Amino acid sequence: MKNKRKFLLFSIYILFVSFFKFKWISKAKTLISDKKTLIITHPIFFRHTISPNHPERPERIKYILTLLEKKKLDDLIYNVDLERNVYPWIKTIHSQNHINSLKKSFPVAEKSSESAVKACLMGVDQIITKKIYNVFCALRPPGHHALNTGKDEGFCFYNHIAITAKYIQKKYNKKKILIIDWDYHHGNSTEFFFYNDPSVLFFSTHDANAYPGTGLPNRKGGGKGKGFNINIHLPCGTNDKQIINVFKTTLQKRANLFKPDFVLISAGFDSRKNDLLGCFNISDNGFKELTKIVMKIAKKHCDGRILSILEGGYNIEGNAKATVAHIEILKNFYKKV
Ligand SMILES: [Zn+2]
Repeated sequence: MKNKRKFLLFSIYILFVSFFKFKWISKAKTLISDKKTLIITHPIFFRHTISPNHPERPERIKYILTLLEKKKLDDLIYNVDLERNVYPWIKTIHSQNHINSLKKSFPVAEKSSESAVKACLMGVDQIITKKIYNVFCALRPPGHHALNTGKDEGFCFYNHIAITAKYIQKKYNKKKILIIDWDYHHGNSTEFFFYNDPSVLFFSTHDANAYPGTGLPNRKGGGKGKGFNINIHLPCGTNDKQIINVFKTTLQKRANLFKPDFVLISAGFDSRKNDLLGCFNISDNGFKELTKIVMKIAKKHCDGRILSILEGGYNIEGNAKATVAHIEILKNFYKKV
């Protein structure tokens, strides 16, 4: 009798657990499949700090998520799956020595940057396998200055966008990757890793007089990659009209010749007006226009596939506003742009 009761209770427990597990999985699947734009993030991106009040701080992500909630866009947010091993992919760009050194000297930052890679690769998987049109990855630290020096470069540890480009090429056999970098700073590491590579068209607008002091327009790529590295220096005070003009002329022209299979954005919002580290004057509407131009390119050549990754942006409120403006356009995929 006692055993029978035990069995009955156990059966009820199993039914209860299965029901909720099923409900949870269904909910997750629905979330993935009925959206065409996703925002991928995780609370792990709040952990890493450089020093108190350093501009590259957890609030950068927290403000974005709060504003998304206010604008009722939080139903697009999805947490990254942290279970996956992404080191084989990190190693397509970074040396084992670099990885070991970061793990030893900056364990929390290394974990955050490794998780950032997971977010990006998950975003690519969603776009390619679930037919999501575009994904924004709300993550930190940024990545486009990260080299193989065994330490951080410009607050960056791993170059997430470079690793993502390699992943798309090797895992999904999509060969031609367009990387657009509108951060105020030059994406020197992205340039470095693809400088001789004609399969990646790198287009960067930045202030070449700022950190890291690279990004001159005469650096156009080397060997077979000659012509596939486009540096556009813009001066302090650059406004919407100036940057939109460069995107409409140089970027569109080159991208249409290149015909990308996938578009990646190094979305740095330190090029926005009132940034702590930048001196450009780009408005949130300006970023909306840039997003529309990139979407037009992606729609024309690769079914709209865009993965956009947060880089810089140090005015906490401004960074959140520009990010949300960018996402508001990304999610209107069906609207004519
Ligand atoms: Zn920057």
